[in-house]
Amino acid sequence: MNWNAVALYARETTGFDTRVAHAVTLLRSAATDHPDRIVQATSLGAEDMVITDLIARHRLPIALGTLQTGVLHAETVALIGRSEERYALPVEVYEPVRESVVHFVAKNGERAMYDSIALRKGCCAVRKLEPLSRMLKDRSAWVTGMRREQSNNRGAVAFSELDDRGRAKLNPLADWSWSDVWHYIAVNAVPYNPLHDQFFPSIGCAPCTRAIAVGEDFRAGRWWWEDEAAKECGLHVKDAPAADVVQVSMIGVPA
Ligand code: SF4
Repeated sequence: MNWNAVALYARETTGFDTRVAHAVTLLRSAATDHPDRIVQATSLGAEDMVITDLIARHRLPIALGTLQTGVLHAETVALIGRSEERYALPVEVYEPVRESVVHFVAKNGERAMYDSIALRKGCCAVRKLEPLSRMLKDRSAWVTGMRREQSNNRGAVAFSELDDRGRAKLNPLADWSWSDVWHYIAVNAVPYNPLHDQFFPSIGCAPCTRAIAVGEDFRAGRWWWEDEAAKECGLHVKDAPAADVVQVSMIGVPA
């Protein structure tokens, strides 16, 4: 059965306009503080599409970048073009080093991520962390769609923090609810991934994302075979292997 995410989730709640205004203020201030050195690292998920809309709507000089891991759903890949068309803003696409992927798969198999947390993190290092390090190279600030409500691990997400390389990391939707995200999408006709209509609240790589059932946790569809505490890919974990040093030579070695 297909679900319409807007009808399911969009609700206007008290303080919505204030939260939107605060997010814009935060983005504008960051763009001023980091001229030509700030990027939105978009996963193309619902939260990130809201942020892209805010950037475009308020003409904020913030670049857009995404990680094309090579194993995304077709719907996610198509959203890159849909976003560019809608907002007339280019999306920088960062792909993993091909040789690294070939080596990792040859050594560990196509389904290595299911074999151990170490191998799953190794795959994330190849397909996500190394490309992210290129996205953030020469940049002093980045923007994410992290929200406190997404999981226990993210319950203390700050609006602004420093990552482990000393870059500013902005989370302008930190205090938004899932209802806020979808209310904004509904009101502003923001393009979104149709997988959200099929009970995929959090969308990552195809092998590591599934639909959730009624009553399941927001991120239950991500790495569902692992413990809750392990459910981060390293992009937002301060003690993850430093992205800048994830080189071809270590690819294939479980992190
Ligand atoms: S989310 Fe899954 S497929 Fe994507 S990089 Fe991580 S382990 Fe690999």
